[in-house]
Amino acid sequence: MRDTPRVSSQAGVYVLLGNPVAHSLSPRMHRAAFRAMKLGAEYVAFQVEDLKRAVEGLRGLGIRGASVTIPFKESILALLDEVDEEARSLGAVNTVLNLGGRLKGYNTDWIGFTRALEGRLGIRGESFAILGAGGAARAAAYAVIRAGGRAVILNRDVQRAAKLARELGCGHEPLERLGELEAQVLVNTTPVGMSPKTQDSPVPREVLGRFQLVMDVIYNPLRTRLLREAEEQGASLVSGLEMFVEQGAEQIRIWTGMEPPLELMRKVVEKALGGSHAD
Ligand code: NAP
Repeated sequence: MRDTPRVSSQAGVYVLLGNPVAHSLSPRMHRAAFRAMKLGAEYVAFQVEDLKRAVEGLRGLGIRGASVTIPFKESILALLDEVDEEARSLGAVNTVLNLGGRLKGYNTDWIGFTRALEGRLGIRGESFAILGAGGAARAAAYAVIRAGGRAVILNRDVQRAAKLARELGCGHEPLERLGELEAQVLVNTTPVGMSPKTQDSPVPREVLGRFQLVMDVIYNPLRTRLLREAEEQGASLVSGLEMFVEQGAEQIRIWTGMEPPLELMRKVVEKALGGSHAD
């Protein structure tokens, strides 16, 4: 007879809400962490068709916590009972905690971004050119501004860049002006270069020599063409792996109040991606 997986009510169930979710590495990373922490908790990914009903399900089923991903990070705010101040200022939620039926939203993407830079570069006083104006750009620009850095958004759709810049109170420029910008750090938050289109890069190689540090939020592949070319130009590199693991670790702290096994989580994701780290 097959064993029915059993989760103690103490341990709880955590879920990922997104669409699509099939390629997400969050289940693997969180399950490994929960196992190592001996929590007996489970983590399940759901491809959500109806967010409102999925959120009701969190309450109805007593789901302890949720990760929230594309395309629901912004639309979920209105469905929660409470939203943490940082997540509200940022305008996006990627983490939900169920406090006895009251759902509270948090954002750990900006924390992941900040931690990924720790020990590499102090954000305060530095200028960041941020490519893209979607969810990841929002988290990156928020983190930069909050830490006293200067953020300039550059996006294909200039209107969208202007809107995000207005909401966060930072600068914006057309993508073509990247080569003239005075910035120490370049952050790619577009999906350009992501698997399977690993031969693409969001910017021409020639502009990369201007930057002291180049960060790509893409983690598949670990070493994107952008990072390879930036390294050839002498820049320091930060891969999206760091941000991904750190945002996940912060989710576990919010859900459990416990310290997650960061190194193990990094190794699990690295192994799943079949490569070595970008730095
Ligand atoms: P999103 O909200 O859809 O935004 C994507 C942005 O990229 C938009 O500004 C879009 O420009 C731009 N873009 C898309 N295709 C482009 C192209 N061919 N050329 C130029 N610009 C292009 O997506 P997101 O949530 O920000 O996620 C973006 C990437 O970040 C994904 O690869 C995701 O996996 C990664 N990510 C990583 C982490 C991490 O922890 N490492 C966290 C979050 C996201 P337009 O406005 O002109 O359409």
